[in-house]
Amino acid sequence: MNQVEAADVLIVGAGPVGLVLANLLGLHGVRTLVVERNLGLEGEPRAVTLDDESLRTLQGAGLVDEVLKDVVPGYGVQYFGWNGRPLASVLPTRQEYGYPKRNALRQPLLVRTLFEGLERFAHVRVLFGHALEAIEQDAHGVRCTLRHGDTQLGAQARWVVGCDGGRSKVRELLGFVLDGDTFPERWLIVDLAQRTVPLRHTRTYCDPRRPAIRLPGPHGTLRYEFMLRAGDRDEEVLDEATFRRWIRERMPEDAALPLVRKAIYGFHARVATRWKEGRVLLAGDAAHLTPPFAGQGLNSGIRDAANLGWKLAAVLRWGAAPALVDSYERERRPHAAALIRMALRIGAFMQPKTIPGAMLAQAALRIACLLPACRDYILQLRFKPKPRFQEGAFTPSARCPHAELLVQPQVELPDGRGVLLDTVLGEGFAVLGWDSPAFRAAAPQLLPPGVPGRIVALLRAEDDFLGAQPEAPVLRVRDASGELGRALEACGAVAMVLRPDRYWARLIDAAALAQQQSRPSAPDDGMSLGQVLPV
Ligand SMILES: Cc1cc2nc3c(=O)[nH]c(=O)nc-3n(C[C@H](O)[C@H](O)[C@H](O)COP(=O)(O)OP(=O)(O)OC[C@H]3O[C@@H](n4cnc5c(N)ncnc54)[C@H](O)[C@@H]3O)c2cc1C
Repeated sequence: MNQVEAADVLIVGAGPVGLVLANLLGLHGVRTLVVERNLGLEGEPRAVTLDDESLRTLQGAGLVDEVLKDVVPGYGVQYFGWNGRPLASVLPTRQEYGYPKRNALRQPLLVRTLFEGLERFAHVRVLFGHALEAIEQDAHGVRCTLRHGDTQLGAQARWVVGCDGGRSKVRELLGFVLDGDTFPERWLIVDLAQRTVPLRHTRTYCDPRRPAIRLPGPHGTLRYEFMLRAGDRDEEVLDEATFRRWIRERMPEDAALPLVRKAIYGFHARVATRWKEGRVLLAGDAAHLTPPFAGQGLNSGIRDAANLGWKLAAVLRWGAAPALVDSYERERRPHAAALIRMALRIGAFMQPKTIPGAMLAQAALRIACLLPACRDYILQLRFKPKPRFQEGAFTPSARCPHAELLVQPQVELPDGRGVLLDTVLGEGFAVLGWDSPAFRAAAPQLLPPGVPGRIVALLRAEDDFLGAQPEAPVLRVRDASGELGRALEACGAVAMVLRPDRYWARLIDAAALAQQQSRPSAPDDGMSLGQVLPV
């Protein structure tokens, strides 16, 4: 069998999740090979929503400015009741992770940008027209069999990640199955172009006669989604006369727009029984399928890539134990499952079965919205599960037994400019804490030797930049919004060690900082990676 070159990580599938992972690995200098069975990039316009956490990951991958060119940032959802009247609006205004919570995109544009992002890395290659057929692994690596036309090829990798979608071949080869449900309801998706009505927000019609969604997108695109009923025949609902009539009933101006594509989808709420076997892992739709009602399937997959990318780099390049990769599933599975449950709840609300059922559920929502706390919970999307985990690669503290994604406010640079926090934290690890002689002395020892990392000393919002900048590698910035101070105080910490995915790995209180400072500071006396990330 002919061999293609070996790689440290072989990614199966050049869908959005595989390409985000390839960009993150490329950034960390990991030799990566992406194999894609199609001859080119996937053009199916599936996902239409990107959330704030995904945009932050793309910021970390150095691609957010390019991605934002094809995104309408910050849109909300307006719900209409069974009688066609406005019912409630979800219009989140907070940007705790640096970006609006809901952003409209078209998946093929994102995929194109992600693919072009790989041009930055000579050590990342994509092979189109190569389908994975078999894998064989031992303690040191994985041998893959690929099919390219009539030819079989071998490829050797130290790790393999199956980002090969809902019908994952990698999952099948590992013998894992998808647990969960497939919905009886099917939806018709209609993509249109040259939208004229400037309404920005999604409209969701919770009408038991025909639940429907109108989703405006970038560059004048527009999507309609209609729930199909048990008796609907495919050829009838795919007939333009039928769906253009349904569109006209919702917004007459949209009814004659040029058609880009129509398709019928069924939806699943499923999670793979396991996500890892030895050196082979699953990510994205291969690991979990989320009903689209919350717009979270792709976003969950991007979270997988953000979690896995730096861990593989840490094992392959920075001397971490392979056991670090085991924490991937422990950290990601509960959150992915929680988002599936959220999508199911939203789906049940959007797809009322009867008019009395719809009236009851919608009246309950109206009453709940009379209470300011409830209204805020709904309007600000606070029902979305927080990006945090209870177990994994971090050191819990008594006050904070979980690890959580750190907020990303703007911080003020010494020259007065405001920038998003991650701009100063860099791409690797970071130690962030209140500026003090003790912090500046102890912080270098909190960064494990051999890992890329930065030290950022915070001044309080009310402080000025007094005195000269501290000596490198410490950078001093101002917590202008006070949000970082609140995050530290919530955990009783004066400093924290952050992982490259911006979850905290270790919280340091004043006593621990003093103890660390009093230790002799021989160059190899700092914390090891294993101490910072116990697994
Ligand atoms: C109608 C619809 C609307 C959606 N809306 C949203 C939304 O608004 N927001 C959101 O977050 N998500 C949404 N989703 C979900 C989102 O589209 C998926 O979660 C996302 O595409 C998953 O990306 P992926 O990279 O994991 O898999 P995929 O996009 O399926 O990519 C897998 C890739 O692997 C390749 N491949 C498969 N087998 C092999 C093999 N053996 N060898 C080599 N290559 C292989 C495939 O060709 C493909 O390119 C929606 C989905 C649908 C259907």
